[in-house]
Amino acid sequence: MQRQYVAKRPPKFAGQAAWSAILGTVPAAQPLQGNVTADFTVIGAGFAGLSAARRLVQLNPGAKVVVLDAARVGEGGTGRNSGFMIDLPHNLASENYAGANDGLDRSLIALNRLAISFAREAVQDYGIDANYFDQTGKINGAATASSHAQNKSYGAHLQVLGECHEMLDQQAMFELTGSRYYVSGLYTPGTVMLQPAGYVRGLARGLSREVVVHENSPVTAFRRQGAGWRVETSGGAVSTGKIILANNGQIESFGIARGRLMHIFLFASMTEELTGDVLRRLGGQPRWGITPSDPMGTTVRRIDTGQGGNRIAVRSCAEFCPSMESTEYKMRRAAKIMRRKFDERFPQLRDVKMEYIWSGPLCLSRNGVSVTGEIDNGVFAACCQNGLGTTRGTLTGIAAAECASGKSSAITEFFAQQAKPYLLPPAPLAKLGATAYLNWKGWRARHE
Ligand SMILES: Cc1cc2nc3c(=O)[nH]c(=O)nc-3n(C[C@H](O)[C@H](O)[C@H](O)COP(=O)(O)OP(=O)(O)OC[C@H]3O[C@@H](n4cnc5c(N)ncnc54)[C@H](O)[C@@H]3O)c2cc1C
Repeated sequence: MQRQYVAKRPPKFAGQAAWSAILGTVPAAQPLQGNVTADFTVIGAGFAGLSAARRLVQLNPGAKVVVLDAARVGEGGTGRNSGFMIDLPHNLASENYAGANDGLDRSLIALNRLAISFAREAVQDYGIDANYFDQTGKINGAATASSHAQNKSYGAHLQVLGECHEMLDQQAMFELTGSRYYVSGLYTPGTVMLQPAGYVRGLARGLSREVVVHENSPVTAFRRQGAGWRVETSGGAVSTGKIILANNGQIESFGIARGRLMHIFLFASMTEELTGDVLRRLGGQPRWGITPSDPMGTTVRRIDTGQGGNRIAVRSCAEFCPSMESTEYKMRRAAKIMRRKFDERFPQLRDVKMEYIWSGPLCLSRNGVSVTGEIDNGVFAACCQNGLGTTRGTLTGIAAAECASGKSSAITEFFAQQAKPYLLPPAPLAKLGATAYLNWKGWRARHE
């Protein structure tokens, strides 16, 4: 048992998180001030942390739960993602998202759907705007013959799994998106399209009846104190019985899972609001979401007024960032690439400006496992979502809360059976290897 964990650095976010900005302002944050006590303290208010908090209050009525986040809710990693809450296998390391085997994929689908049900129930309980949790499904868009082949092979895999899907042709893709770029699309109906900031803000607001959420409160350390722990921020401290770490890759900053986690930064942009003539030139439907058929390609999403305005969001480019910080140079480079991707898809909108450009962290392990379970006496983890934080984050959060409450379920059992994340090669080799791999995969998917 370790006596203390000290953060090497607080999380840093580059670029304004559009999903939060387009929803307008929220009341001022209430950072932690002074000393308080809690039964459970959750570090991180993203998908994992807020799901953990909800599960904790379900299982421990009357318990005092405190959530601490370094940023505002909706402005950390969770508010920086593209909002695809995917029910199906989404293995970023594979050629077409299929998992290692059919059995594993079936159990992942069942678990992802449990996560979606858990989130849907929260949306209902807390009265979260249905526009922020929209079960419209998604499309794997193919821009070339080779990615169309990837779509067909993924479709065949879904057939074996007994999962609904439909192949759209070029004309159908044009009618949906207003773009002639895509030669085909594989539609699957089970994905929920989140307005990520709207969803997590709604979770935090709903939870605030029973849980205290302190934003702008980066945890600098937690130390053993009697039978519990003392969690410290620059403004105060929580004396707590148990801790749930739901800070994804930042768990490594506390020295946990050191040398085992791959920190990747993804980049994204969102247009200014599209109005009148621009909308006519765009055509297509008001809401759709396209993930690339090649996992290393570009995600494109159209949203409408109910979700923060008529806008298009683009997500592209991946950088291996062991330092967990992206640089100005990388942002500028990614911005140029995303602009090109946008223009290729929507040549009729060359005059439309990108209002927001941002980056955000992903945390992966070489063997695709998460960091979960009890990692020290009374300290539980809900981290390393392997790129699918919407569902996997929800699941790790539920699992951590259940373990901390002494409950077992299909979700805790799934994570209990996982191996530890494999060790990475020594730092310089890992950086070289990962960068070369990402560059090669990115180049191969350059049209997608
Ligand atoms: C551009 C982009 C697009 C993406 N698109 C998708 C998608 O469409 N679908 C999908 O499923 N996933 C997507 N992802 C991945 C997804 O965003 C992450 O997997 C997800 O955010 C992980 O959720 P989490 O709650 O585990 O961690 P996070 O969302 O990263 O939340 C962790 C929180 O912990 C806080 N924190 C960290 N350190 C501390 C500390 N010391 N003290 C206090 N608080 C701390 C952070 O501020 C943060 O708010 C995308 C990621 C990016 C970058």
